[in-house]
Amino acid sequence: MSDHVDSAATLFPAVIRARDPDTGTMLSYRVDERGATPLVGGPFGRDGGPPRPLEGLALACPVEPRKIICIGRNYEEHAKELGNTVGDVPTVFEKPVTSLVGPGAPIVRPALSGEVHHEAELAVVIGHNASGLREDEALSVVFGYTCANDVTARDLQRADKGRFTRAKGFDTFCALGPRVVLAAAVADPQALAITCRVQGAVRQQGNTRDMVFPVARLLAYVSSLMRLEAGDVVLTGTPAGVGPLVAGDAVEVSVAGLGTLKNPVINAS
Ligand code: ZN
Repeated sequence: MSDHVDSAATLFPAVIRARDPDTGTMLSYRVDERGATPLVGGPFGRDGGPPRPLEGLALACPVEPRKIICIGRNYEEHAKELGNTVGDVPTVFEKPVTSLVGPGAPIVRPALSGEVHHEAELAVVIGHNASGLREDEALSVVFGYTCANDVTARDLQRADKGRFTRAKGFDTFCALGPRVVLAAAVADPQALAITCRVQGAVRQQGNTRDMVFPVARLLAYVSSLMRLEAGDVVLTGTPAGVGPLVAGDAVEVSVAGLGTLKNPVINAS
């Protein structure tokens, strides 16, 4: 585990996914003071047995979304560092679900890119199907929050001039985890420090209070474009300080209270 895991600040309850050590089946677990309780029917399911110790469970990506919606240019300082301006409405794009990896899994730099960047972000996990949400009701559909690394092939993103699919869509380019802290345990999603460290050195240090479009407005906007479904994930944009990842790096994304998502970086073989 990382030195930077904020165990004292870890909020409960949360949901994780891990392989059942006895049967080898991938299961969702609710994590609280009693340990990890297996859930029948996935992250939204009911208790399926007694709690077990959290230690010894190898964490996987905590959710299995049907879609991953991402927001670009949602922190002014980050928009500036890439020579962009902030728009009147959120910049929306998608990452394929095949890009997902969990904590500890390698991020693979594709041979096609010479410039792979980290982007530390707050990720929102949707708990209810919803369309046309009003901003004042939008947070009611949030199941919980987790850390995300919106890994990006910056050279391909520049070359593709605003078409993000290739630069953002490679396998392993969406790291999520380590756990989804349930929404009720997050007092204010607009007051969370976000940090990215590479080899222990701080690269990004931001706070969700600096979002151009806060989470509620993002969810209202996205739900006006497409139906949000339970399990979907919305990445909310990255603060300033994005930079390169090379093989051998360990990259960590921490969001205050949500824990630390750590992944090694390797080159495609
Ligand atoms: Zn991003």
